Amino acid sequence: MCGSNAFRVLGLRQNHSQGLKPWKQPGISVSVLQCTKCRLNYSSPMPIPYDIQDHYGTPPENYWVPNYFEINPEYFKYSLNTLQKLKPVQPGMKALDIGAGIGKCMIAMQNAGFDVWGFEPSKPFHERAITRMNIPADRIVCSTVEDASYENNFFDFITFGAVLEHLYYPAANIEKAMKWLRPGGIMHIEVPSSDWLMAKLLNLYYNLRGSDFVSNISPMHTPFHLYEFTLESFEAHAAKHGYEIIFHERFAGNTYAPGPLKKVLTSIMNATGTGMQLTVWLRKK
Ligand SMILES: [Zn+2]
Repeated sequence: MCGSNAFRVLGLRQNHSQGLKPWKQPGISVSVLQCTKCRLNYSSPMPIPYDIQDHYGTPPENYWVPNYFEINPEYFKYSLNTLQKLKPVQPGMKALDIGAGIGKCMIAMQNAGFDVWGFEPSKPFHERAITRMNIPADRIVCSTVEDASYENNFFDFITFGAVLEHLYYPAANIEKAMKWLRPGGIMHIEVPSSDWLMAKLLNLYYNLRGSDFVSNISPMHTPFHLYEFTLESFEAHAAKHGYEIIFHERFAGNTYAPGPLKKVLTSIMNATGTGMQLTVWLRKK
């Protein structure tokens, strides 16, 4: 993201869920690296799925329970409320959802007044967006960022919700999507944070047990995470690619801890900016 190749090795991690004693588990361990300039975390080597459709998590049939297709009016509401403060939605504004899934976010954006488009790399999700969610087939295509194509300066708003960490080339993918955005348009990106307190605590525990394992870049199995990001990753990228960061937030997320401890950990994460998720709002110059 920042363009630097300098790194430090954080440690090793298993190619599967590794629990509290990864050193006792069989599997393939890879090195987790951190960019010394912007603290982007990534693994070396990167996991490569058998098939691109594996990478995008071809869902088990139990995904397709009836309530999965129910529309929750709260879906994407928080983000749309934030967007209203940054750039009020006007009739006729165009929005794009990258990694549209079954189209829930497209429906939420349409209800907020946008004219919407989307694309989704997973065949079963794309198919069900059309057949179960009634997304018009000319508005959602089955595509990766690399293969997708839209007019330059076309969209007022683009969202990359929980997508970028799954992509091999996040910097190039943001650059491509920026071309589709109008000057003054907004891009919303939500990613896992390199600074997550729970990962640091688990790393400390592994270290105290005398091991080199770390817990970063989880999961390293379907649906693979490939990166963890910092605000500095985006600031460095923004400086070279014609956009600015106009707002960011961090969310504590799950602590995987019991009740009272959960409260304490959540307030520490909120106070110190060490939550699980980082959200950045970018404006094209
Ligand atoms: Zn970097």
